[in-house]
Amino acid sequence: MSEQEGTIEKMMMPKPFKFFDSHGHPGLEKKGIMERPGCFDMWAGNTVGARTLMGARAALGDPNPMSIITKPEECPEFSPQTFIDYMDRSNVEAMCLQCIHGISDPYPGNKEGWKWYVPNEYVKKEFIDAYPGRFTAVGGVHARYGKEAAVEMVLSAHECGFPGCKFHTPTAGYPNNPDLYPAYEKMSELGMHLQVHTGQEELPGTRAKYQDPVYLDDVAMDFPNLRILQLHCGLFNNPMQGLWNVMKFENVYTDITVPHPTLMQFKYYWDLDHMRVLEFFMPDKVFYGTDFPLTLTVYQAMIDNIMNMPLSLDFKYKLMGDNFRKFLNWESKSDNP
Ligand SMILES: [Zn+2]
Repeated sequence: MSEQEGTIEKMMMPKPFKFFDSHGHPGLEKKGIMERPGCFDMWAGNTVGARTLMGARAALGDPNPMSIITKPEECPEFSPQTFIDYMDRSNVEAMCLQCIHGISDPYPGNKEGWKWYVPNEYVKKEFIDAYPGRFTAVGGVHARYGKEAAVEMVLSAHECGFPGCKFHTPTAGYPNNPDLYPAYEKMSELGMHLQVHTGQEELPGTRAKYQDPVYLDDVAMDFPNLRILQLHCGLFNNPMQGLWNVMKFENVYTDITVPHPTLMQFKYYWDLDHMRVLEFFMPDKVFYGTDFPLTLTVYQAMIDNIMNMPLSLDFKYKLMGDNFRKFLNWESKSDNP
């Protein structure tokens, strides 16, 4: 008899290898939350985001998860160790965390614009250095303070040892804003990659027009040596353009992160036809990500869903970690990547 396992055995294996979560959000940890602008707003108030997190609050032991949070003390017990606990339970080797720099356009009730800031140094200290081999991160970048400040943000991320930067379009505007170009040049020079939010966002002051993936077309064309990770693949906004960006440009990659699986159109996450398009057209350029902790309650279910789909094991291996490890030049600490 052959030593090799047959297709059925392979398909039945729920966790044949370790996964890599390419998309997670630090900052919502209870300790010092008010020192990170915008993070408390994720838990507080009667907003789409806060209501979405009520499930996470229940899972974290909040006895009144449906109550509206108004004070930082009411935030659930949530810490970097919570990330590790969930990752361990789901066989996730490591997660890429997004530090954020963003200030939205002014809007009624907020003339300054809504600010979201998760500092690079915080994430390096509390996550990366505290749990070796389990986290990496990208630094936040925006050009609201001008071109030079944007370049400084890139240098700060580089000094922290991060492999890239994230531009959060919903708060910070169009990714093809010429004021960002010196920062992109610096990133290309330093061998860093760029992550850009596309799709939709419900945070305060955010505007849908900035999030259309069509604006990445300029950046990808003008910076052929800059590797670009298109976050969310234009979900709910212009997913077809998102797919096209990856097909058109050698330097554009995408994740399939769905911030709220029960809210978003299932067709772009749970649907087999969509997954087969990815498998057929871009098997080496698509990454698995979760938006943890927004998806905390379904963290394991999301993985099981994909692993149970009738896709090739080869593609699952690439999608669920290997593609992103190669993208980062990641060296696994464990001997079972
Ligand atoms: Zn995200």
